[in-house]
Amino acid sequence: MRVCVLGAGVVGLASAYLLAREGHAVTVLDAEAGPGRMTSYANGAQLSYAYVAPFAAPGLLRKLPGWLADRDGPLRLRPELSWHQLRWLWRFWRACNAAQVERTTAALLALGALSRELTREVTAREALDYAFARAGKLVVYRDAAALREAAAQVALQRRLGVEQEVLDRAGCLAVEPALAGMAERIAGGVWTPGEDAGDCHLFCEGLVAVLQRSNFRVSFRFGTRVTQLLSAGGRVIGAATPHGVEEAEAFVLALGNGARALAAPLGLDLPIAPLKGYSLTVPVTGPAPQVSVTDAAAKVVYARLRDRLRIAGMADLVGADHRFDNRRLDSLLRLARRAFPEASDWRELKPWVGLRPATPTGLPLIGRAPGWPNLYLNVGQGALGFTLAMGSAALLADAMAERRPPIDAAAFAPRC
Ligand SMILES: Cc1cc2nc3c(=O)[nH]c(=O)nc-3n(C[C@H](O)[C@H](O)[C@H](O)COP(=O)(O)OP(=O)(O)OC[C@H]3O[C@@H](n4cnc5c(N)ncnc54)[C@H](O)[C@@H]3O)c2cc1C
Repeated sequence: MRVCVLGAGVVGLASAYLLAREGHAVTVLDAEAGPGRMTSYANGAQLSYAYVAPFAAPGLLRKLPGWLADRDGPLRLRPELSWHQLRWLWRFWRACNAAQVERTTAALLALGALSRELTREVTAREALDYAFARAGKLVVYRDAAALREAAAQVALQRRLGVEQEVLDRAGCLAVEPALAGMAERIAGGVWTPGEDAGDCHLFCEGLVAVLQRSNFRVSFRFGTRVTQLLSAGGRVIGAATPHGVEEAEAFVLALGNGARALAAPLGLDLPIAPLKGYSLTVPVTGPAPQVSVTDAAAKVVYARLRDRLRIAGMADLVGADHRFDNRRLDSLLRLARRAFPEASDWRELKPWVGLRPATPTGLPLIGRAPGWPNLYLNVGQGALGFTLAMGSAALLADAMAERRPPIDAAAFAPRC
């Protein structure tokens, strides 16, 4: 089949790769000059297959007023008073219940496990070099109440087959000695040995290099913005760009935050909102963590990428605004310096801002678009797009081949 994949972020490229492996002829279109230049560029670098509990959770509603009152808190909301944002917030609020959290967690854990298997398989098979490490992940909690809450989640996940361990302060320091600088502020943590880390942008570039040099039938059109999806006879017949119309037998919408605008004229109302975050990438010049670390209270993640340390965090629901907020950068830097003062000389910071394509429940939309026989969606991976990319691509390929997927994919079926 001739397939046109719209979007060369990590989700679109993983989709293109698996579709090409099945023998399809694939064309990938992206507005940027190269692969992985939007949200897949300098994200938190965590392949966090077992840490998938959604943002929308009953506990969040309790913490929300305190977080929103704190200008340096991990979450920020600037109401746009648009119909879309209000509806998204309403759906998010409705998803903040224990039953939905359990359903979402179970579905994402299954997708995460599939993704881990495929990410490791593809990394080895294609000898991808993206600072990949089987690092394991340690989430540290500052107080006993938060640790107890985390232990309850560990118990839930254990029933779903996830290997995790609750540690006290000494246990955390044994796993990651570089935490010594913040030892006094740690009550304990959760250690997940099966998590990985890697540079998402390098992963994207690696996939493109593989697809360009091998026998796959894949072509790339970078610097090509899709302005409209053309339809006739109940099917999508082309993707309009300033350079002409790209025709194909099937189309995959993997445009992250760009998907909503193109889907809307086809009557598809995608529940995706941009959730802004920041990262800093510093050269390691002293004792820095080797394992991935999350400071749960600050919602900041640390990932070691060989001789660099990536620090990422913040979730700001402020619309599709790509501007940096210097106050957010400053607070990220302050948290990082307090946590790992010796890790870097903190002079070279490489700041980055990105918008997570987030659904209210945290469940991505994967599969055939309702009402359109040859349009497929692979969007809305939110805070976990790098982690879930390979698994999402596998479910997409199964949907396109009308094959039974290896996991229950019902939770991801697009309803929009
Ligand atoms: C601060 C931060 C930290 C994060 N940390 C992690 C982490 O540790 N682990 C993890 O798994 N995930 C993390 N994420 C989330 C992850 O980065 C995203 O889920 C993922 O990058 C989304 O990939 P995507 O391919 O869907 O979107 P994108 O990477 O945004 O790709 C979409 C592509 O579509 C293109 N596009 C859009 N509109 C058009 C158009 N009209 N025409 C042509 N091209 C178009 C864009 O140029 C872009 O290249 C983080 C995100 C942020 C912001």
